[in-house]
Amino acid sequence: MTRRTPGNVACHACGALFTRKTWRRDHTVPLGAYDRVIWRICPACRQYARGEAFGKVVLPAAWAAEHAEELQRRLDNVAARAGYTQPQRRIVGLERAGRSVNVLTTSQKLAHRVAREIEKLFGGRATYRWSSNDGSLTAIWSPTAPRQGAAARKRTKRTGRT
Ligand SMILES: [Zn+2]
Repeated sequence: MTRRTPGNVACHACGALFTRKTWRRDHTVPLGAYDRVIWRICPACRQYARGEAFGKVVLPAAWAAEHAEELQRRLDNVAARAGYTQPQRRIVGLERAGRSVNVLTTSQKLAHRVAREIEKLFGGRATYRWSSNDGSLTAIWSPTAPRQGAAARKRTKRTGRT
């Protein structure tokens, strides 16, 4: 009796298998699993090839240069851990933009994770901004936490009571 493999798809760039509605590569693949797959490029690899990013972590360039080695190690770490269970979540790369360095990721979640890791390791604070256009997330990290008092001035009292 032959059991029909229900339309599995595999990525010929990274080997991820599309099963149960998600791209995975964190499980043991039975021998022959790739025999009847439809070979395609998974969304992560497609995005990666285009350098498309849905997440961005903005870091001060001077700081990033100073901590380049440690930062890269941390990013590799996060990417490796994320890539293991979720191949579609990847770090696309670093991009220099004026006085900042942008860490580009293929997902909002990964950008969030990178920002959290940086906070954990180096302190400071990240603020988040969602784009309503494409749903991308920008995390802006600053090594020094913004002062609450001066910036967040309370609503000015309404004057001119009648
Ligand atoms: Zn792939």
